[in-house]
Amino acid sequence: MTHSPLTPGVVAGRLPAETLAENFADLHPPYAAHEAAVAADRCYFCHDAPCIAACPTEIDIPLFIRQIQAGTPEAAAKTILGQNILGGMCARVCPTETLCEEACVREAAEGKPVEIGRLQRYATDTMMAKGVHPFARAEPTGRRVAVVGAGPAGLACAHRLAMKGHEVVIFEAKPKPGGLNEYGIASYKTVGDFAAQEIAWLLQIGGITMEYERPLGPQLTLETLRQQFDAVFLGMGLAGVNALRAEGEDLPGVRPAVDFIAELRQTRELAGLPVGRHVVVIGGGMTAIDAGVQAKLLGAETVTIAYRRGRDRMSASRYEQDLAASKGVTIVTHAQPVAIHGNGSVREVEFEYTVTGADGALAGTGETFRLPADQVFEAIGQTIEGLPEGLALAGGKIAVTGAGRTGIAGVWAGGDCAAGGEDLTVTAVAEGRDAAEDIHASLMG
Ligand SMILES: Cc1cc2nc3c(=O)[nH]c(=O)nc-3n(C[C@H](O)[C@H](O)[C@H](O)COP(=O)(O)OP(=O)(O)OC[C@H]3O[C@@H](n4cnc5c(N)ncnc54)[C@H](O)[C@@H]3O)c2cc1C
Ligand code: SF4
Repeated sequence: MTHSPLTPGVVAGRLPAETLAENFADLHPPYAAHEAAVAADRCYFCHDAPCIAACPTEIDIPLFIRQIQAGTPEAAAKTILGQNILGGMCARVCPTETLCEEACVREAAEGKPVEIGRLQRYATDTMMAKGVHPFARAEPTGRRVAVVGAGPAGLACAHRLAMKGHEVVIFEAKPKPGGLNEYGIASYKTVGDFAAQEIAWLLQIGGITMEYERPLGPQLTLETLRQQFDAVFLGMGLAGVNALRAEGEDLPGVRPAVDFIAELRQTRELAGLPVGRHVVVIGGGMTAIDAGVQAKLLGAETVTIAYRRGRDRMSASRYEQDLAASKGVTIVTHAQPVAIHGNGSVREVEFEYTVTGADGALAGTGETFRLPADQVFEAIGQTIEGLPEGLALAGGKIAVTGAGRTGIAGVWAGGDCAAGGEDLTVTAVAEGRDAAEDIHASLMG
């Protein structure tokens, strides 16, 4: 190793390869069979289980836990995957602490929920390890559906449509499928090549053709897809990023957090990935946390996440905030960036303290401070990009009614690009699945 956390600038190899391997290991290691049995025994199998209602895909959680308890994890997997075809990924990445596990009656009673996420992973991993695909296609319907985007929403929609017997073509802008499962989720939540493996397993259903590097845009318009297919589903996510609008944001060393994360996710050799000595992340969501934590795990000496409001307003959950703190990341709140300083490349970020008025409006106090920074990651939200003409918007996203119907006949939308719902993998899956059911009902009269 030639560098250390103290080496100035943005350099690779701050930590030895063995330390990096430890740092980026599975955040929640998988259960062994006996651990799963013990965890399953904690479930009360509640009638009207609140955990089901708290799951955006409404998985029958007590049923699948009962199936694990009975020693039939494959049956448990089928219960999960019937509702959520990306149940393996969701078991790894769902913020269960704000969904099913928060609602678990044992969380309310003892502050220790049944570990639903890890049990789900145990069941789905067991089935996927055997290479079994538990669903079969219905008789061909002769109908063809175009899906735009191979992220969680598009994949869930395509799988459900294929199951119903329709032919599906997925048009994906990137050279690989998965969307943020492949390019966004923190490395330590989905280790190895799980995103790609899960998609290969999903495609075993048949009837889905992938067309990579075929973005919807001037070369492939929505109008063309509407003419060539019986229905279109838009699951194109949020490909753009918000600008900081602070002086100096064009300096080398300043970049969107999602670009850094995507590079990290595609890097085979983490020791070769450059990171700053002092890293500042601007934002308060999951992207800010993931960028900050991973920069720290790569060996940055200091990482500070700066957010303009209080901790209670951060969209990252308390669990995620605590995870960042446990890895040595500092969170500074009530601070908004006013300028980025540097000569040739970034050296410091200047912040102004803020206060929130009685009306909720944010105001600068006039008092400023500076943080040293060799690298600055902007994580202040993503925006829809390359939107086809004619689609109505709501809150900057595609306006939908019911199960993802847009204002254009024969065009549905779901996932991050559609209005409503939280920007989560599991929500995207639920919306893709429900739109597929609606498309099917509409195509079959
Ligand atoms: C850094 C980061 C970390 C996250 N961590 C978590 C987490 O831990 N847990 C969690 O639940 N959620 C997490 N999320 C949110 C979650 O990843 C998203 O909500 C989810 O991926 C949305 O799925 P989607 O299919 O709508 O969009 P995406 O996953 O963004 O997929 C959209 C796909 O469409 C493609 N596309 C875009 N434009 C076009 C076009 N014009 N033509 C064709 N294809 C196009 C894209 O290349 C992409 O493959 C995270 C998000 C980010 C950014
Ligand atoms: S709420 Fe908790 S205890 Fe009750 S069924 Fe769900 S996981 Fe089991």
